[in-house]
Amino acid sequence: HSKEVAGGSYHFYDEKIGKRTIQNVKYENALYRALERDEFTLYYQPQIDYCNNRLFGVEALIRWNHPEEGLVPPDIFIPLAEQTGLIVPIGEWVLREAVFQLEKWHDLGFTDLIMAVNLSAAQFEQGNLHRSVKQVLAETGIRPDHLHLELTENQIMRNTDLAISTMNKLKELGVQLDIDDFGTGYSSLSYLQRFPISTLKIDRTFIRDILHDEDDRALTDTIITMAKNMGLEVIAEGVETVEQADHLVSRNCTLMQGYYFSPPIPARKLESDFLTNK
Ligand code: C2E
Ligand code: MG
Ligand code: MG
Ligand code: MG
Repeated sequence: HSKEVAGGSYHFYDEKIGKRTIQNVKYENALYRALERDEFTLYYQPQIDYCNNRLFGVEALIRWNHPEEGLVPPDIFIPLAEQTGLIVPIGEWVLREAVFQLEKWHDLGFTDLIMAVNLSAAQFEQGNLHRSVKQVLAETGIRPDHLHLELTENQIMRNTDLAISTMNKLKELGVQLDIDDFGTGYSSLSYLQRFPISTLKIDRTFIRDILHDEDDRALTDTIITMAKNMGLEVIAEGVETVEQADHLVSRNCTLMQGYYFSPPIPARKLESDFLTNK
């Protein structure tokens, strides 16, 4: 009897993996052509200073407009792009597209606006990143400190010596380095001090239940205090309600991002909703 169950569950498991593989192969082939077919687009999510209700930055988030499937979320295709190495040209495209977009917004008069761009592990560990960043800054004339590059704890803890030297090289260009999804990965305080970072982004899983879950509240408080003590900025991700926003302000965290302010939106919509008073 137990054998039957085991066999049954094995069969189910196998089938699931099989399906997922077929799905991946399908996406993989399409992913190869997506760049040249111009199927990627960037959405931008506002970053708000809740103290003065001011838009201070935007985070660029990639979207894939698959010809048959419609919008494919990055959580599906970024891992696939990582496995295939396609993430390097895709990441290069994201970087250039985002900085050129920022130049347009600076030209409209929003000269303080910053742009945050997510880096993948492969992109971060690839030797050319420094050159690509330098190049696009030179082409656009964007002041380097208006560009924030987001890395996760796990990305920098994979090979800390390499990470520190890569980060130092980027820092020498004058760009800012932010730690994304902070609190979910593995990093120790002693290491954190050695990285030339400017901002911690508190992962949204801690913000979600911040009003009711004491542990999440304590952890968030700790991250905020630690960031301030280390002279770092801190941004709360995934703020969905005014109550969460008010709580964060009461804890000294005023920089926020989340659906309460806006989901990620196309450039045009960001302009019409947020960049109108100049
Ligand atoms: P992330 O960098 O942590 O981006 C934040 C994610 O949280 C975004 O999902 C955003 O839409 C979502 N989000 C923002 N506010 C809220 C909120 O209030 N509630 C909830 N539930 N979610 C919120 P998205 O756009 O699907 O991106 C997912 C992840 O994919 C990103 O997480 C990032 O790790 C990765 N990603 C996105 N674009 C790029 C890219 O251009 N390059 C690389 N390497 N990774 C990217
Ligand atoms: Mg991010
Ligand atoms: Mg995040
Ligand atoms: Mg992330």
